[in-house]
Amino acid sequence: MVSNTQAQMVGEAQEEKKISSVNGNFDIDLDASHVLHNSLVSIPLTVASASGSYVTFSNGHRVLDACTGAAVAIIGHGDPDVQAAIQEQMTKVCYTHTVAFTTPVAEALANDILEGNPHGLCRAFFVSSGSEAMDTALKLARQFYVEIGQPQRRSLVARQRAYHGNTVGALSVSSHVARRAPFKDALILTNVSYVSATYAYRGQLEEETEEDYSARLVKELNEEFQAVGPTTVMAFVAEPVGGATAGCITAPRGYYQGVRQLCDKYGILLILDEVMCGSGRTGTYFAFEQEGPGVYPDLITLGKGLGGGYAPMGAVLAHKKVIRGLQSGTSYFVHSHTYQAHALSCAAALAVQKVLRRDGLVARCATKGRWLEKALNSTIGECKYVGNIRGKGLFWGIEFVKDRATKEPFEPALRFTWRMVDETFRRGLSIYPGAGTADGIRGDHVLIAPPYNASDEEFEEMIRLLSEAYGTVEREVELALVAGKSNDR
Ligand SMILES: *Cc1c(COP(=O)(O)O)cnc(C)c1O
Repeated sequence: MVSNTQAQMVGEAQEEKKISSVNGNFDIDLDASHVLHNSLVSIPLTVASASGSYVTFSNGHRVLDACTGAAVAIIGHGDPDVQAAIQEQMTKVCYTHTVAFTTPVAEALANDILEGNPHGLCRAFFVSSGSEAMDTALKLARQFYVEIGQPQRRSLVARQRAYHGNTVGALSVSSHVARRAPFKDALILTNVSYVSATYAYRGQLEEETEEDYSARLVKELNEEFQAVGPTTVMAFVAEPVGGATAGCITAPRGYYQGVRQLCDKYGILLILDEVMCGSGRTGTYFAFEQEGPGVYPDLITLGKGLGGGYAPMGAVLAHKKVIRGLQSGTSYFVHSHTYQAHALSCAAALAVQKVLRRDGLVARCATKGRWLEKALNSTIGECKYVGNIRGKGLFWGIEFVKDRATKEPFEPALRFTWRMVDETFRRGLSIYPGAGTADGIRGDHVLIAPPYNASDEEFEEMIRLLSEAYGTVEREVELALVAGKSNDR
């Protein structure tokens, strides 16, 4: 998330290592680090410590964490109760082979989340990431149909502008252009087709009401089911509030009710991916709970905020329909991971759930979310390059455009998103970048996903730093566009 320019801006010596063109010349020090960082020509800044809503780098630079990494550190950094819970767990057991055994802490976490079988969800499979959770959900869906005697169901329908993770299964149902590009001819499943995203800013027609738009999207899904053959579809996969790809896009009223009815009609499972938008971030524990009566998932995935960043954590929650299906057959889920339901991860996640409840933090997401929406709109909402502000709770996306009237995006070479990220970072604010918003290649947005328990003063500070940084970037970009025009002549 920290770009090369950021590194220079904060003054840390970030010597770019030149890649030798001479193959096999091992004398040249190509790399100052043995860690395979994503960039092979620069080394990211080093985080020295993190506490509450702040992250401190080894060069002394400190930033207010307005995106909690990637919407992960939902209760902020360094919570003493979570630390104590993990330490206590360490004195009991860290590792046991949870394919064969269970632990009290895994049972307690599952009970905590699924007490009373909310929305018919009755079992939790704990893994170590959102991607693992998505792959697990896909395998559960497939095995469900094998067990109930419908092995002809092999297809998946997903949505454009979606991100579901980077493992092979999860990436196959994603439509993040950049993250798929190198792998699309080799490591991507081909039994997946796509329907439109719920992207009102670019998708809803001028003459359409919200309900019309919703009905049109549901109709498109029905047509896709018909095209693929509704008795051959395993599942429809969707993020209730979109995350990294298009930036907090929300569904129009009635959409998920229509989706649920269609899935029920054809016996297709509904897999909701709440890895980013779940765990309270939108103001309800599950984001789908705001989509109207009758909406529930057959499988739902959690990740990111579930462990709050204190330990790697992800989960699939299964509806009793799916569990009964497996029970009607072999009663054995053919899937496991060495680190599934790891005791320390479960202890961390359980402690995070307790903090959420003790401090009423899901409700705070709703109330502070309303404040944040107003604050964003009143400070930068009418600005020249701000095209759209959207989201729910403490999960907001700001899409930038070159022209508010035509919604034309900036050229990627202008690096609008990165200018925003660099400028906010320089001023002491961390936000989450997104590019390719409009069509997978062009388009810019940033995400705001603060800790649920950031103080009122910290929220004010986020808005102040964000709008100041935006002002600087706006001036820079105006100049760059003028310079670009004169170069064209
Ligand atoms: C981040 C994300 C994932 C993948 O989670 P990882 O923990 O990075 O594997 C899946 N789905 C959504 C919606 C996400 O935002």
